[in-house]
Amino acid sequence: MSKLQKYSFHGIYDLINLVEEHINLETGFWNYNEDYFIEHSAKFSKDTLLHQYIVITALNFYSHDFRKNGYYYDDENLLDWYEKFDTYNINIPKIVEDNDKENSGAYEWFLENEDKFCDLFSEMSEEAFYVLFNNRKLLLKFNEIVSTHISEENLIYPSEYITEKGTIKRCHIPVWVKKAVFHRDKGRCVFCNTDLTNLINNYKKSNFDHIVPLDMYGVNDPCNIQLTCETCNKSKSNIEVTTSERYFSWW
Ligand SMILES: [Zn+2]
Repeated sequence: MSKLQKYSFHGIYDLINLVEEHINLETGFWNYNEDYFIEHSAKFSKDTLLHQYIVITALNFYSHDFRKNGYYYDDENLLDWYEKFDTYNINIPKIVEDNDKENSGAYEWFLENEDKFCDLFSEMSEEAFYVLFNNRKLLLKFNEIVSTHISEENLIYPSEYITEKGTIKRCHIPVWVKKAVFHRDKGRCVFCNTDLTNLINNYKKSNFDHIVPLDMYGVNDPCNIQLTCETCNKSKSNIEVTTSERYFSWW
């Protein structure tokens, strides 16, 4: 049985807003690990491309913010960071006041502890992912950023991962991906709302569809999968990038 994870949701919504803003601005992957990207786009991984995107977006953004605005950081701003590190039990040294220096202390503190910020954002990415994974419209936009990256960046994929055209090969979708997507989409086709649980209705086959098709440089990543019925799946062409914004209400 899977163990339960503890989520604190401390400062998570700021991070979510930041990531959403960058996805909407179509900010691509930069300052990222290319090998990680290749491996995690070709084969389904629980550590998804969105996890990586959350971490690098936060690191890139706050590196710039500390450099540009570190001068204005006051005790209250810093206290907020210390509390975030405390939440995830990451030990980070506090900034020591140095009156001889111009107050560039916050940026130096960030640079000296960049690995700790990376650990912090990795922890926070789990909680941000928990919220963002439910937002299919945003996942579609995110997967468009990913597919543009693959089609334009000439990444060197091992030959067993790609087709002659340079798109990623289809691979088996693991049961844990199917289960997560089935539950997220509440056992219903995202397009026509057909009940695919088979609890009451006649037998209906579930299809697990790539939001951005592999033919359009889509990836084998849990964030690129949605639940559809067979009819909708068959009527969707292999170049169609689409999802729905309709959700089954809680009550
Ligand atoms: Zn359908």
